[in-house]
Amino acid sequence: MTAHQVLEAAKAAPVYDRIALIGLGLIGSSIAHACRRAGLARHVAGYARSAATRDKAAALGFLDSVHDTAADAAQGADLVILCVPVGAMGDAAAEVAPALKLGATVSDVGSTKASVIAQVSPHIPDGVHFIAAHPLAGTEHSGPEAGFAELFDGRWCILTPTDGTDADALARLRAFWQGGGAKVDDMDPEHHDLVLAVTSHAPHLIAYTMVGVADDLRRVTNSEVVQYSAAGFRDFTRIAASDPTMWRDVFLNNKDATLEILGRFTEELFALQRAIRTGDGDMLFDYFTRTRAIRRGIIEAGQDTDLPDFGRMPVRRT
Ligand code: NAP
Repeated sequence: MTAHQVLEAAKAAPVYDRIALIGLGLIGSSIAHACRRAGLARHVAGYARSAATRDKAAALGFLDSVHDTAADAAQGADLVILCVPVGAMGDAAAEVAPALKLGATVSDVGSTKASVIAQVSPHIPDGVHFIAAHPLAGTEHSGPEAGFAELFDGRWCILTPTDGTDADALARLRAFWQGGGAKVDDMDPEHHDLVLAVTSHAPHLIAYTMVGVADDLRRVTNSEVVQYSAAGFRDFTRIAASDPTMWRDVFLNNKDATLEILGRFTEELFALQRAIRTGDGDMLFDYFTRTRAIRRGIIEAGQDTDLPDFGRMPVRRT
């Protein structure tokens, strides 16, 4: 069955009977909300390692059942999604493995793919499918109260199947994400990691660095950095407010691709530094013209808004 056929069938019945979410933060809770909105599963079970998060999830009411162990949550599930930091994926897979039923699919939402596949694959029992995934959607907020049903609407979800991936299991997972509002694409895991190093991981590291530099400077200029914080810096602070555990794990698990991109970044930075020092205005102008075209491409692809200040400013109507 193709993903389209599975989705058509899902209009009459859910894509999966029972799913289990291991990890109930921003992404896990958003999946639960999206499932409920579109009726993607008859039952959504959940587990988080801390009682505090489990209690919060139960109180928020986005799950059909909350469990004290990952194995209990995964028991009888047709789809188990690991929604924990990438450094914890192997342990999470080991915890659910004994409870997995024959024919079930295990997936994940980790921001890196090659290292998650290497951690999780050894724990997948015979007769269970493993298809790694990464929804390219998020905010700087974390925890079960941060989730919302619309998070994945119009965003990409990358699946990284391998040669041996079962076609029906893949079509079903694709239909699940499409039902949750996402656009779905397939990618080779190493290619995914390189693309994400450019589009997400290196930019996050640069934002963390810039905010760190400003923090050092603040000690010299007192509160001016905060008081006069302009759009560029404010956007860096939003990115640099992202969850420290998640991002520590991303860099440790996508080391090679991130270092490769940061090496190129440093070379470009030196070239721009030289242009400023030598007064090479033509170089700066040409460079900024090229980067402006990239921004236009992102808007045209529907991946961001063209509104002033990213839509934060009220639009003045005349
Ligand atoms: P989050 O809001 O911080 O939630 C993380 C969840 O994982 C919590 O339930 C937490 O449990 C649990 N957890 C944390 N450390 C753990 C460990 N060592 N062992 C077992 N469980 C642990 O994070 P998130 O934003 O949902 O991110 C989850 C995954 O999605 C990560 O792999 C991340 O790379 C990926 N992702 C994130 C974004 C984003 O923008 N945030 C976007 C796409 C993909 P407790 O609450 O009990 O501590």
